[in-house]
Amino acid sequence: MVHKMIESSTVFEIEDQYGSGAYAKRPTAIVRGEGVYVWDMNGTRYLDATSGQGVAALGHCHPAVSHAISEQAQTLVTLHESFYNDRRAELLALLDSITPGDLSHFFLCNSGAEAIEGALKVAKLLTGRSGIVAAKRAFHGRTTGALSMTWTPKYRKPFQDWLPSVQHVAFNNIAAAREAIAEGTAAVMVESVQGEGGVHPAEIEYLQALRQHCDKTGAMLIIDEIQTGFGRTGKWFGFEHAGIVPDIVALAKAIGGGLPMGAVCWRAAHGQIARATHGSTFGGNPLACAAAIATITTIRDESLVERAEANGSWLLDELAALNLRGVRAIRGRGLMVGLELRGRVTPALKAMQECGVLALPAGLNTLRLLPPLIISRAELTKVISAIDEVLS
Ligand SMILES: *Cc1c(COP(=O)(O)O)cnc(C)c1O
Repeated sequence: MVHKMIESSTVFEIEDQYGSGAYAKRPTAIVRGEGVYVWDMNGTRYLDATSGQGVAALGHCHPAVSHAISEQAQTLVTLHESFYNDRRAELLALLDSITPGDLSHFFLCNSGAEAIEGALKVAKLLTGRSGIVAAKRAFHGRTTGALSMTWTPKYRKPFQDWLPSVQHVAFNNIAAAREAIAEGTAAVMVESVQGEGGVHPAEIEYLQALRQHCDKTGAMLIIDEIQTGFGRTGKWFGFEHAGIVPDIVALAKAIGGGLPMGAVCWRAAHGQIARATHGSTFGGNPLACAAAIATITTIRDESLVERAEANGSWLLDELAALNLRGVRAIRGRGLMVGLELRGRVTPALKAMQECGVLALPAGLNTLRLLPPLIISRAELTKVISAIDEVLS
């Protein structure tokens, strides 16, 4: 194999020398993936309970997605939205079929942060207002608009003087949200489960009360489903647990089966946005659309949303039954699970990797599991054993 020609230490050196420096990297060069597994350059196999940061809902190189990408790659890769396209039309109709209520307008883009930027612009265009209310501990991305909604001061502080002012209120606290929402509020934005902030699910009553208060005040309710969308929490979208329909939804991560893609979605009742108020060169390109169609139809046809619900609650029960000494609290919804540790998460992640399982942090103390939705109980058992070994 080609990978034998170059040592992983050489890969580390080159990336460290020429990379941006923005990332804390694990000293592992991953070169191949199949299903729930990835392999490093030495041929060591790991169970990927990160899904590549929540992206690979179908695992790595799912045949349906790989096939759709290679076929579309030989048909048409790029096409600006100033022309129509069969794949794009197919994807828009498919997205409409899986989103509840009249969530029927979609702006296609290329990442999560871009979906958040688009959601903010749509909220402003639909309301003519500019105030934004977001939640403490929120993570919405790192471009200037998205960063202003993100809570973690470490991410925001160096850029503070560039950012639009946003009011951050306590999460899961309806009184605090009501107090902050005023006449000039364009939108309230929350995640249906805060991911990066430590895996904190929004309480059902909280989402319902936010919906009611937004109806009363005319503010748009924006739900960030970038990490929670496409079955992760045991529903197609996390807000569905509360039986509400938001005004605007931000989508990304799992939508494109691994290709960069995002989308802003909003209710037909609000109408479309005016010509030329938004745009994107790569947005809605046929290659990403083909990958997204394959991803979404596979999730639907293989009942992976229901499977995430069943396996997620089983996983939570199994983890709770371990009575782990190193764990302060276990939280989650579907296959999005956080274990709040008594100590720092980094050594636990390292020890998990030594047991052959890749997991994610969520803040300094929470270990986050986002396994592919296709994961089997036998494979989940390997994750549980690694956790037991590391944290008991
Ligand atoms: C990952 C993430 C984002 C940002 O997405 P990028 O594609 O990295 O820009 C925004 N919101 C949530 C909830 C996320 O998990």
